[in-house]
Amino acid sequence: MIAGRLHWHDKPPRLNRKLSLVAFEFDNGTLVLTEAGSKRRASLHLVRGEEDLKDHERGGLEIEPASLAQFAERLTSENHTLKRALTDPRLFSGIGNAYSDEILHRAGLSPLQLTARLTKAQVGALFEATRSTLKDWVERLRRETGAGFPEKVTAFRDGMAVHGRFKQPCPVCGTPVQRIRYAANETNYCPHCQTGDKLLADRALSRLLKSDWPRSLDEMDERLQRG
Ligand SMILES: [Zn+2]
Repeated sequence: MIAGRLHWHDKPPRLNRKLSLVAFEFDNGTLVLTEAGSKRRASLHLVRGEEDLKDHERGGLEIEPASLAQFAERLTSENHTLKRALTDPRLFSGIGNAYSDEILHRAGLSPLQLTARLTKAQVGALFEATRSTLKDWVERLRRETGAGFPEKVTAFRDGMAVHGRFKQPCPVCGTPVQRIRYAANETNYCPHCQTGDKLLADRALSRLLKSDWPRSLDEMDERLQRG
C-alpha cells in the first residue's frame, strides 16, 4: 500500500499502460490495481483456500482481540525502539508508519524508547493507546467512506495529531511537531508530549549541520533568541 491502490469502476475503464497492473472484471464493474511511481514493488499471489493463505502470514499479533498480557509479551520479546517494534509485521499486524506515530503520541512515549526499558505503566499506556487509536481511525474512515468504495487512500489525514505534520502545532500542547528522517521514511513526534522536550537527532539533518544540531527545544529557543 505504499504506492499501490485499488480502484472501482462501474463501467469498463480505459486502462493506463503504465499504472494499471491488473483488472478484475465483475458483472457490476471492474476492480483495477494500480501502482504509481517508478519503483515496482507490487506482487500478486493466487492461493486456493484459507489454508494456503497461511503461507502469507507474517505472524504479527492482531491488536483487537489481544489481551494486555499478550501485547506485553510480544512487545518485549525482542529489544527494539518502539517505532520499530510497533511497525514490525512479525510482531504486530496492521500498524504502519502513520498509525505508529499517532499511537506513540497518544501514549506520550518516545519513538526511540527501547522496549526493554519500558515500565509496566508505560506498557499499559501503550496498549490502551494502540487499541483506541486503531479503533478510532477504523470508525472514522468507515464513517467517511460510507457505503461507497474507499478511493481516498492516503497515509496523511486531517485529524492526525503528529503524522505528516512537521512544524505544525501539537493539538495537545501547541509545540511544533518534529521529525526524524531515515531512508524514505519519516517519524513525527511532539517533543513536549513524548520526549521530555528533547529533540531526537535527525540523521540527515545532523550530518548536514555536523555538531550544530540542537538537542533540546530549550537549546533551540536559546539559539533562536541569540539570533
Ligand atoms: Zn504536544
